[in-house]
Formats: sequence, structure tokens, C-alpha cells
Amino acid sequence: MADTLLGKAVSIRALWKSYGPQTVLHGLDLEVAAGEFCTLLGASGSGKTTMLKVIAGFEEADSGRIDIDGRDIARVPVAKRNIGMVFQNYALFPHMSVRKNIAFGLEMRGLSSAEIAKRTGEAMELVELTAFADRVPGALSGGQQQRVALARALVINPDILLMDEPLGALDKNLRQSIQLQIKALHRELGVTIIYVTHDQEEALHLSDRIVVMDKGRIAQNGSPQELYRRPASPFVAGFLGECNFLGSGSDLWAVRPEALRPGPAGAGQRQVDAVVESVIFLGSVTKIVARAGERQITSVVGSGLIDRAPAAGSPLPFHADERDVLAWPA
Ligand code: ADP
Repeated sequence: MADTLLGKAVSIRALWKSYGPQTVLHGLDLEVAAGEFCTLLGASGSGKTTMLKVIAGFEEADSGRIDIDGRDIARVPVAKRNIGMVFQNYALFPHMSVRKNIAFGLEMRGLSSAEIAKRTGEAMELVELTAFADRVPGALSGGQQQRVALARALVINPDILLMDEPLGALDKNLRQSIQLQIKALHRELGVTIIYVTHDQEEALHLSDRIVVMDKGRIAQNGSPQELYRRPASPFVAGFLGECNFLGSGSDLWAVRPEALRPGPAGAGQRQVDAVVESVIFLGSVTKIVARAGERQITSVVGSGLIDRAPAAGSPLPFHADERDVLAWPA
């Protein structure tokens, strides 16, 4: 475990999956590079879990192909796919100690007891659970249980690690602390991760690449920066980060709150006339909520740039640089 794992590349082609009459995956293509942290982000029911289950081999695709490290895994039985998995409900063995839970996958693989002890010890150290080795899961906090699940998935030196809403059951503070640990582990180990979440902040925080899913299709696939700066559709713009939609009909344009600033437009800028509704001081930034005709708009400005907060009810023009305007062909 101390060695860097060489994560494997995953290549998915034209993956179709239906449950009865309902098509859940519509011919998806996805390339995940070796060692990449790739997140499937989408609302509930968009097909994320089904995608993971098909990769893991718990569900069979109707058609399509999945290669890991250039090898088609269709005919590889589930137990022989070297895939680690972590789910929201930890799925730990309740009657086994932490050590036994983590060792289980190695015992199944028939390793020597010396090798099992060594790797289990290293995995416990990695997730900082050595002191809890002899406890059963019920005697651990939710966050600690999730770290056992993580160690159990990593101890087999997986080619890829699949994680399905692993932090969904944890409260916000704990979620953030485990996010940091997952990110550090990913950097340290170099394992390829395919991660599922419906939480855009979590996706932005963790991922090298985000795949936005919508009703069984990929709405966009790119780095967090690409998705935020150049969303391929209004759907992606609205799903990832806040967005002011200002166009109408076929002239559909939008601008992020931090790109919309108070004051009249100059050259190379466009203007939106509005009436201030509220001004919210948030410390380093101040949020101005205003009404532009039928629409409510939000502008986020560095608090240091505002001398005097505009009064609620007063008219105020806003402007955005043309290069910050998001627009989509009809
Ligand atoms: P997500 O993980 O994005 O929430 P899922 O992959 O779990 O989405 O589900 C996608 C769609 O497939 C949903 O409409 C869900 O109801 C349906 N579905 C998932 N699993 C089954 C199943 N075993 N049988 C029938 N329908 C299913």
C-alpha cells in the first residue's frame, strides 16, 4: 500500500441499459484517464448508480463496451475485476472488528497471513484507524465507519475505485473533513476514482473531471473550470454554480453572479437595468439581489469594492464584460 498504486484507465463506449421499458443509460461514452478523479454529477434518477453498477459488474449492460487498462471486462466475472467499492451505507460486517473487516478482501484472495497482516496494518494507518483496530463498526462514529469502508476498498490495491455517495450519510463538517482525506489519499495513491454525487460543491471540490448527467445522458464532460466557465447548455450552467439567466427566446444568455457588477456598462460590456431588492454582507463578499423586469438577479462583489451599499428600492444598472457572457445557440 505504501507504494503508489498505478491507477488504470477506463474506457466506456456506447453503453446502453434499460430496466423494462425505461432506458436508463442512453449509449454513454466516457474516457477516464489512469489516476484521474472523475465524478458523475447529476440529480437523483439520472443514471449515476446504474453506471457504477455496470462497471462493477453488479448489473449487465444491454450493449456497449467497457475496457479497463485496454482490456474488455465484459467476460471478466465480478470477483476477478480488481475494483474497490465504497457506498453510502458502509456495508461493513457488524460482528467483525475493524481489522477483520479490512482484511476480508485479502483473505478471500488467499494471501498469506503475514501479507494480510502487513497490508491491513498499512491500510489502517492510511485512514488513521490503527487505534480502533479491535473495535466493531457499531462502536465507531459514522465518519470512522466510512474510513473503514475506504480502507477495505483500498487494501486490495484496486485498479479503479468506485464511490457512490460515500459521504451522503455524514453531517456537513464531517463531510468536508473526509473530502479532504479522500483528496489527499487520491493524490498519494494515484488510484483511478469514479465518484458519484448529486452535490455540486462536493464535485467541484474533489474532481479532476466532472461528468454532468441528465436523464441517462451526458450533458457535459470536462474539468470543473471548463464546466463552470463554458457550460455547454443552460442546464449545466444552472446545475453547476449560480447563474443569472437574462436572455429570452432564441437569444438565451446568462452571466455568473461574480461577473455581474454594479454600475453602467462601458465598451465591450453589456448592461442590465435593475432595482435593488436586498444587499447581503457575507464578509469577504457582498451579495446584491435585484429585480430586472420579471427576473431576480444576483451580483456578488468583493466587499472591499463597495464604498456605500445601494439602498433597497433604488434603481441600479449592472454590467458584465462580453467575454464573461455565457450564450448558447438556439
Ligand atoms: P441515480 O444514481 O442518478 O440516482 P439510478 O442509476 O439509481 O440513478 O437510477 C436511474 C433510473 O433507473 C431511475 O429512474 C431508477 O428508478 C431506475 N432504476 C434503477 N435501478 C433499477 C432497478 N433495479 N429496476 C428498475 N428500475 C431501476
